[in-house]
Amino acid sequence: MKKTPNMQFENSLEFAQKLDREDPMATYRDQFLFPKVNGKDAIYFVGNSLGLQPKIAKDYVDEIMKDWAELGVEGHFYADKPWWDYHERFSEKLSKVVGASPSEVTVMNTLTVNLHLLMTSFYRPEGKRFKIVCEEKAFPSDQYMVASQVRFHGYDPSEAIVELKKRDGEQNFRLEDILSTIREVGEECALVLIGGVNYYTGQVFDMKTITKVGHEVGAMVGWDLAHAAGNIELQLSDWDVDFAAWCSYKYMNSGPGNASGCFINKRFHGKKDIPRFEGWWGHNKDRRFLMEPEFQPEPTANAWQISNAPVLSLAPYLASLQLFDEVGMKKLIAKRNQIVAFLEYVLHDIDRQVDSNFEVITPANQEERGTQLSVFLHGEGKELFRYLMDQGVMLDWREPNVIRLAPAPFYCSYEDVFRFGQILKEGILSKQK
Ligand SMILES: *Cc1c(COP(=O)(O)O)cnc(C)c1O
Repeated sequence: MKKTPNMQFENSLEFAQKLDREDPMATYRDQFLFPKVNGKDAIYFVGNSLGLQPKIAKDYVDEIMKDWAELGVEGHFYADKPWWDYHERFSEKLSKVVGASPSEVTVMNTLTVNLHLLMTSFYRPEGKRFKIVCEEKAFPSDQYMVASQVRFHGYDPSEAIVELKKRDGEQNFRLEDILSTIREVGEECALVLIGGVNYYTGQVFDMKTITKVGHEVGAMVGWDLAHAAGNIELQLSDWDVDFAAWCSYKYMNSGPGNASGCFINKRFHGKKDIPRFEGWWGHNKDRRFLMEPEFQPEPTANAWQISNAPVLSLAPYLASLQLFDEVGMKKLIAKRNQIVAFLEYVLHDIDRQVDSNFEVITPANQEERGTQLSVFLHGEGKELFRYLMDQGVMLDWREPNVIRLAPAPFYCSYEDVFRFGQILKEGILSKQK
């Protein structure tokens, strides 16, 4: 991957520390809890898998435990943050993270569950329009979800699922190929459902254009934003996306398995003819406890709520969202661009120094990537991965030979990136001996 190094950077401790001193977000690092390896804070590059715990998360959880202890069932109405509409505290702040109106955003359940529920409304195959366009080698849960939905509607996945393909020898999807596939499927296309950021390569899709072309052929367009929410700029309303869902435990730092977020375009709010699996938490808020026999949907995305809110799972998410609201996506993205560019520079520099053989498969173009760089380790493989982990770099491994590095801008420092580079170099050199 020999490339001309970017001259604005230097691969040195002094230079990394200078960037940290100039970083307007530097103080946030101290608001997160870092796992320790060999007694030292880990270099944590797996925020794309499970974000770190914000220190204030515990206060939010403790508050609910305390309210439960002191108020029992009365906590639903008389807690400081009452439980009966706890989920509504997210709409305003979360809508800014994903570029939506507050009424279009809600939190509930978990990601794959929400995608299933949203498909009940937005995958409605009829006549010859029954196909779903999705990416090849999508995240496995998405593959299982889509295939089971297709079978549930009585179709054969091999006919109903059209996978977007990469060209032979290429690591990323080309927009022109995505659009031509959607146009070819044309009036048979019921739904386009893709991950906004590919989990394996970190490629960011042009959601605006793909959504537009999906609509041109008459399809619904939904996005799995697991790797996008809290990572890249989203404008779901302006792009006129039909629906989207994301988990909150990756870049959004909400804690393991915690609640998912959903976007449902306001075009669908208050519509009577839309099929949906319903429950009491989606019923007209003011009449919810009258226990009336007939369902009256909330006039917002909250109509898709089913059960009463899992407040203990929502609490750390709300805490983390508080931090997102303070910082704002703009500032987060500015640091992300710089720290990822620095990581890329360090990788290229180490590669040059040790004459290694690894390849960054994430697009080099800043518009097409977020926080994650995926590195294909041609020769080195799993042994090097183990070495890095033992030396306190937390990163992840994907078969056949890829490490994913995500220096989350909220809490990673430029010094982390420099130190990672030194450990990587030592690891490669020790193997070459
Ligand atoms: C992380 C991830 C999931 C996880 O799904 P859960 O339902 O939260 O377990 C699903 N899809 C994608 C694309 C992911 O990256």
